[in-house]
Amino acid sequence: MALKLFNTLTRSVQEFMPLDPAGKKVGMYCCGPTVYDFAHIGNWRTFVFADLVRRTLEFSGYDVQHVMNITDVEDKIIKRVRENKTTLREFTGKFETAFLDDLKALGCREPHQKPRATEYIPEIIALIEKLVARGIAYKAADGSVYFSITKYQGCGCHYGQLLKLNLDEMRAGERVASDEYEKESVADFALWKARVPDDGDVFWPSPFGEGRPGWHIECSAMSIKALGETFDLHLGGEDLKFPHHEDEIAQSEGATGKPFVKFWLHGAHLLVEGKKMSKSLGNFFTLRDLLAKGFTGREVRYLLLTAHYRETFNFTLDGLAGAKTALARIDECVGKLREIAGNTSADADKSYLDQFSSSLDDDLNISGLWGKVFEWVRLLNTKIANGEKSAFWAARQLATWQKIDSVLGIGTKSEAEVPAEISSLAEGRMKAKWAKDFKRADAIRDELKAKGWVIDDTPKGIKLRKL
Ligand SMILES: [Zn+2]
Repeated sequence: MALKLFNTLTRSVQEFMPLDPAGKKVGMYCCGPTVYDFAHIGNWRTFVFADLVRRTLEFSGYDVQHVMNITDVEDKIIKRVRENKTTLREFTGKFETAFLDDLKALGCREPHQKPRATEYIPEIIALIEKLVARGIAYKAADGSVYFSITKYQGCGCHYGQLLKLNLDEMRAGERVASDEYEKESVADFALWKARVPDDGDVFWPSPFGEGRPGWHIECSAMSIKALGETFDLHLGGEDLKFPHHEDEIAQSEGATGKPFVKFWLHGAHLLVEGKKMSKSLGNFFTLRDLLAKGFTGREVRYLLLTAHYRETFNFTLDGLAGAKTALARIDECVGKLREIAGNTSADADKSYLDQFSSSLDDDLNISGLWGKVFEWVRLLNTKIANGEKSAFWAARQLATWQKIDSVLGIGTKSEAEVPAEISSLAEGRMKAKWAKDFKRADAIRDELKAKGWVIDDTPKGIKLRKL
């Protein structure tokens, strides 16, 4: 069975076929973070979804080039830079680093390219110049350059490919300068924004005058530069369909005259505790907030991966506690398999892998996949309980799990590698400390050391590591 995905462009589930005539290379672009704050859990749903798509493609044998931009100049950033009396690079650098740390904590594979908008100003200017030369963009009285929707349509192009827009109500030449606007205010949008006093030091010279790029043109310029004028996959959260993605299509197809992207994939919204996330409701979480509550990146990843990407998902703290239990079941089973397998190695069980990939091929049917994983874990536990002792059998199951996990990316709990005897000694030391029996606690610490293990007391509890 071939991989099928829901293409927003055609509003249907379609078989995925790469543009590469050899059927091997896949270009994939996912709109990255706007680095003006820590990414919240709604943002993370999109990035974990993008990681799942990439891992699925790699599992299916494709050679993926994954590009994720860093939006480091945009309306919100300029506002914060001004408020914080700092420089653009200093301000965005901090949040970019935090974002990449969080991406890693969530077990996401690092994109192959992470272009920053501010390092692509020449490409952005060149793209705008193309649009001006084709008569699709124009300089307005405010000094900014706008994209003309009427002129674009006049070239036989279609504005509104990702969603239905009521263009009849649009008044020709009406303009919108901000990066974000509602469907109702569809109008000519800014490609290059003329410098204004509020921009401070954030401006670049250009043939259109000093200024800065609009948000939408940044993604067109960076994706075309990284993946070519037409590429396979473009991903993002569904809130980006309009205006961001629609404008990306218009700018790119307007400038190149070629189809921009073959497959558009959109991840659905996230609710937290049943409601739209908001700071005033107290249900607004960054990944850091959840880690501070004692949850781990892999628990958050697991929970985000339990719902189908096109379904609105209700993220709850109870759900995270459930994730802990679910992962413990897998960890326990993997731990037992490791004990039985010892140093034996084997190949994965192809018939099981085929079952798992049939769920993935079905538009990333993740709940079907998890159902199969837990049914399989149950089966393995029964076999082990019934006395299965074959090292080869256990090694085969472990190899199978490794393959499945190359898509799920949850890994194995590192503590699972600590032998039971060592963890029970560590627990004894903790209890001795609670009972203020420091002599005994120290004796256990020495015993652990003699067995090759060091115990570290951290604010998040104890950690065991090998000497
Ligand atoms: Zn984008």
